[in-house]
Amino acid sequence: MKKICLVCFLLISTVLSAQNIPSPKQFLGYELGEHFTPSYKIVNYFNAVAQAASTTVKIQQYGETNERRALIAAFISSPQNIQNLENIRLNNLRLAGIQKDNTSPDVNMPAIVWLSYNVHGNEPSSSEAAMKVLYALADPGNAQAKEWLQHVVVIIDPCQNPDGRDRYVNWYNSAVGNNFNADPQSREHDEPWPYGRTNHYNFDLNRDWAWQTQKESRQKIKLYNQWLPQVHVDLHEQSYNDPYYFAPAAQPYHEVVTQWQRDFQVQIGRNNAKYFDEKGWLYFTKQIFDLFYPSYGDTYPTYNGAIGMTYEQGGIGAGLAVKTNSGDTLMLADRLLHHYTASISTIEISANNAQKLVSEYKKYFDNNINGVGIDNITYVLTSSDQNRIEEIRQLLDANGINYGIPAAENFSGHNYFHNKTEAFKNEGFQIAINTLQPKARMVKVLFEQQSKLVDSATYDITAWSLPYVYGLNTWAVKEKLSITAYPGAKGITGVQSNYGVLIPNTSLSGSKLLAALLTQNIRVRFATDDFTYNGKIFGRGTLIILKGNNRADWLEIVNKACTAYNIQPFAAQTGFMETGADFGSDDVHFIKPPKVALLTGNNVSHNAAGEVWSFFDNELNYPITQLNAGDLEDINLQNYNVLIMPDGSYTALDDKDAVSKLENFVKAGGKLIAMEGGAARLASLDWTGFKLVKDTSQSPDTIMQKKYGAAQRDYLTSFIPGAIFKVLLDNTHPVAYGYPDFYYTLKQDTRVYSNIKDGWNIGILPPDAYTAGFVGSKLKPQLKQGVLLGDKAYGNGNIIIFNDNVLFRSFWQNGKKLLANAVFLAGN
Ligand SMILES: [Zn+2]
Repeated sequence: MKKICLVCFLLISTVLSAQNIPSPKQFLGYELGEHFTPSYKIVNYFNAVAQAASTTVKIQQYGETNERRALIAAFISSPQNIQNLENIRLNNLRLAGIQKDNTSPDVNMPAIVWLSYNVHGNEPSSSEAAMKVLYALADPGNAQAKEWLQHVVVIIDPCQNPDGRDRYVNWYNSAVGNNFNADPQSREHDEPWPYGRTNHYNFDLNRDWAWQTQKESRQKIKLYNQWLPQVHVDLHEQSYNDPYYFAPAAQPYHEVVTQWQRDFQVQIGRNNAKYFDEKGWLYFTKQIFDLFYPSYGDTYPTYNGAIGMTYEQGGIGAGLAVKTNSGDTLMLADRLLHHYTASISTIEISANNAQKLVSEYKKYFDNNINGVGIDNITYVLTSSDQNRIEEIRQLLDANGINYGIPAAENFSGHNYFHNKTEAFKNEGFQIAINTLQPKARMVKVLFEQQSKLVDSATYDITAWSLPYVYGLNTWAVKEKLSITAYPGAKGITGVQSNYGVLIPNTSLSGSKLLAALLTQNIRVRFATDDFTYNGKIFGRGTLIILKGNNRADWLEIVNKACTAYNIQPFAAQTGFMETGADFGSDDVHFIKPPKVALLTGNNVSHNAAGEVWSFFDNELNYPITQLNAGDLEDINLQNYNVLIMPDGSYTALDDKDAVSKLENFVKAGGKLIAMEGGAARLASLDWTGFKLVKDTSQSPDTIMQKKYGAAQRDYLTSFIPGAIFKVLLDNTHPVAYGYPDFYYTLKQDTRVYSNIKDGWNIGILPPDAYTAGFVGSKLKPQLKQGVLLGDKAYGNGNIIIFNDNVLFRSFWQNGKKLLANAVFLAGN
């Protein structure tokens, strides 16, 4: 009797708990795939499952988006593992050599599999799939899952970009009728600017893993580095006419990718293929999606010890259903089922190989620390401006990379700026990073001068060497230099003055400080040449704030801002300088506070517009007005004195009235700053005086035999995915204040401008400018001479052009001050 009752009890309790865990349909009120689920409902569903399955599912809110939506991660494993979760995490970091305590790492621990969904908001099937995966794993009736979860901890980030997802889903729901329309031309398949792909500031979060310029990435990578999983999958969607894509990835692989990482990708791919073959679903592997640029959801995990992968379902713009090229109707339900299947297959193969995954993981980090298969190099970076060192230190912290300062300065190494072996020269502040540490491979990828490309058909830029990105004088030393603790930033001492204050302005912090002063109505001047006061030389661009004409509490505001931006001010008790111009001289210019507007909207690059918007909003903290480029002819431009045109094709300027609006704005004293395609568009207008050098690649081709099968190779000869070039700067021009007489630019096209007559050639591409990255052989001759950065007066105003993107993905740190200078200093 007793026994029977026990069996009854077990049966009943199993049935009850299965009933208690809500399926997506029970919770949402519709079958997955019938509608798009807004992000808050996804979060609510995850919480509901965690509540019902509290022994096997745990939720952590790891952050919040710009629009204040929740960012969550779910941890799913066996009850025993969930109870032991913090120990599993710490043990995992011990395996990686990151957690250092008296406990030795245990290799008999579950493997960690992290699945990330919906980083691109308008690739929405993946978050729907995430709910199905969660339910399958939490379902107590799923014996297979129970077995797997003994061996793996699954971490699910159901939606990495809720702001973008909801932008898409809310728009789609507003465009679709009672019944979906599968006609690809229907409006519901034509999403409006700025599209849901990106986050609030139009940033592609799948280009931001290493740089973490965006709020979502910073919070996610913090959690990621607390776990450092063995397997990571980033689930996307691609064009709806494409079949599914999964691992193994395409070439090029960065050379730091280990044999085990290459091999296990193939095992995972084969396991996925088994299920896709069973169902007769099409897929491809080994094409398009490479492992090179370090800031993706596959490469970043790969360079941090994981098997890092991208999965892609066809589906962008597909809505609930769409007719594809092959005549099929692709349904949302199909798309999410494919993602679900690939997710579950990945969990299965990882669980079946958990021990091997964990032991190989330990080997990966042991090899990193001991220099097995990785060069022992110390990178030493130096600058006379501590804030420039601090900028890169913050990036190292965000990526869990160890650093310090060299214990001695009597060493030589390869100098990045001069490209030869030289004795180290300390410029005042320094930072040193050695490769032999848990993050060895990441350090190599970020700091090496030139990444080896085994195949040049890549998906992204081919050069990102941090010394060039940050503009920091760097030595690579082929040994482990003795490194001592990084001293941290020195404090700022406020000054007293009855006359004025001088503020050196040689880093982006100087521009931020200036923006802070201007927003508080402080009147600021700047020196256009070097001067000496109290025996100290102050460089061009030094900010001068005088008591006269300023508000009564000026000194308090100035001292506060200097502390906030870590710049030591100097008191000036007179306007009489020992050498150089006195403060009343013509050579000291008053800064007219900029009233800045930004052109956005259709035919303007949403990424480029977002970079400028984010730069003003999040870095300069300075007001900017976004205008719709299409409305140009109706807008009153007199409200602004700076107008920024980011990359774009500007079809709005096909209209004569819009063009004369722009022309009159500059004539009346406005400053027009145009970048990339925006600059090229201005060059097509006669009155601007800018001219593009003709594209010599269009010269008649010699007749040659072209092989059809080699079409892609042939295309590469005219391909420049993003390479680094050294630009010569006229640093006597305000746009280049605070820079040496050169700057490393990211060149993504072959455009160069002709000599600017009656203006200033601020940045010139010299014949030997090529520095790093891939440039197609046909293009190299074109990139030998020309203007990339120029300034020309017109009427009472001026036009400044930047051919290259100085704010690229907001991580091209050393370009930012050029734009800030153009906005605040140029033309005054
Ligand atoms: Zn994507």
